[in-house]
Amino acid sequence: MLKNQTNYFQQKLLLWHKLENKRELPWKGEKDVYRIWLSEIILQQTRAAQGWNYYERFLQTYPTIEKLAKAPLEDVYKLWEGLGYYTRCRNLHATAQKIVFELKGEFPKTYDEILKLKGIGPYTAAAIASFAYNLPHAVVDGNVFRVLSRFFGETTATDSSAGKKLFEQLANDCIDKSNAAVYNQAIMDFGATICKPDNPLCNSCALNKKCVALKKEMVMHLPVKEKQLKQRSRWFVFFVLEYKGRFAVQQRTEKDVWQNLYQFPAMEFHIEKEWKTFLKLKNILQAQTLFTSAAAKQTAITKPVVQKLSHQTIHAVAVLVKVPALKKQMKQVQWKTKAELKQLPFPKIMHQLMQGKVMELF
Ligand code: SF4
Repeated sequence: MLKNQTNYFQQKLLLWHKLENKRELPWKGEKDVYRIWLSEIILQQTRAAQGWNYYERFLQTYPTIEKLAKAPLEDVYKLWEGLGYYTRCRNLHATAQKIVFELKGEFPKTYDEILKLKGIGPYTAAAIASFAYNLPHAVVDGNVFRVLSRFFGETTATDSSAGKKLFEQLANDCIDKSNAAVYNQAIMDFGATICKPDNPLCNSCALNKKCVALKKEMVMHLPVKEKQLKQRSRWFVFFVLEYKGRFAVQQRTEKDVWQNLYQFPAMEFHIEKEWKTFLKLKNILQAQTLFTSAAAKQTAITKPVVQKLSHQTIHAVAVLVKVPALKKQMKQVQWKTKAELKQLPFPKIMHQLMQGKVMELF
């Protein structure tokens, strides 16, 4: 029974891909392993539409893995700016260096060797192994969990250890082993365009005749997840300090969001009420004495902006301060001109803030 169901799934999926799949992506059908790897790293936490532009800019700037390996890390960060999840960028650069300087420029050719590279988990290793070398490894990610759990009516939680094993087995039972690259592309496109998280196109779906979730009216209840991701909120005030035409910035070195990126000196609050109280003018002016030795002139405060990350929500405002004199203890601060600021990688929220009242600065 399951064999019939997996055969039906594979055949219908491949037929849909051949006849109906209209999804266009710049890396589709690509055989160059450097380009495949680059696209897969970009796509790890990013929607294809957003990643497209970054992929093309990376290839223009670093057309080969050698060029990427030899580039300063800060330049690579600058190009990655706005894409988020910056660990990917650090790993991308480290892996490029490993391949060029330790592996003589040869990208590994087996699934197990690819999996050993920094920043590459089972999903990305399967994608690279199948797309570049047509090796029979099925991709298993959120899209694939959703498609398989719905089509097979599988209610085991996808984030449980039993679920992970079960779905990996199911995915490898379904794959067309002689045509792994095409199959993996088909299931990814199918999950992104037909069996979507919200509003799946069940009425016109090429697999709907045997879809268990559709038959049992469980489509919107699948896939099942054991743990809901805990969200936490953080509140920031960034001080845009200007002193003699230069601006204070710091590099974030701690293991936290935006590691290695730059920011304006900041204060963080963990309780919204405290953040709101702080934003009263009198308190802000008092806080400025942290940075200055003379009464500073506050010139602008931005509207609050919000950025949602996968596990935290960031709220922030920026206060623009013209600093008449400096305090000595402003360590770990670099003073940059406007032109120099443009060369530094900042988190997306900093750009959102800059487009507020402090925009005229840049
Ligand atoms: S019928 Fe609906 S739930 Fe089933 S595979 Fe197709 S789109 Fe997904």
